[in-house]
Amino acid sequence: MSKRTFTMIKPDATGKSYTGAILDQILKAGFSIKAMKWIRLTEEQAGLFYDIHRERAFFQELVDFMISGPIVAAVLEKENAVADFRTLIGATNPAQAADGTIRKLYAASIGENAVHGSDSDENANIEADFFFSKLERF
Ligand code: ATP
Ligand code: MG
Repeated sequence: MSKRTFTMIKPDATGKSYTGAILDQILKAGFSIKAMKWIRLTEEQAGLFYDIHRERAFFQELVDFMISGPIVAAVLEKENAVADFRTLIGATNPAQAADGTIRKLYAASIGENAVHGSDSDENANIEADFFFSKLERF
């Protein structure tokens, strides 16, 4: 069980000024921040990040959304980080997300769903490596 996961606060949430509230909820849930940056992805970068979804019907919509504004990328640490963070953010579709979850509170739709959370320890490492050098992690 790894202690780290990777997250992004997506452009819908940064654009609605939910960044502070979402970070507050993450910290209050017991996660600590090990790396963080505020950036805007290029189309190529967003496509590479979501490469696993390249053949899906929503791929271009997803890429267009992810480059529509800035994001916050972060590495988070906590015991059982990957699973506990997926619980904190709630289901992909906010209509199905549990009460009190970040997606229930801040997401508008299955596409524009406020936050990303890694789905495995392996992907958490791959995603953290995609965004952060060793020098940028503490
Ligand atoms: P994420 O990987 O962003 O944490 P997730 O693991 O809950 O989300 P995935 O199945 O990995 O969900 O989908 C990645 C992202 O693609 C979703 O978060 C959402 O932004 C978008 N997406 C997924 N399904 C759809 C859909 N049916 N229509 C539009 N966008 C979708
Ligand atoms: Mg996913």
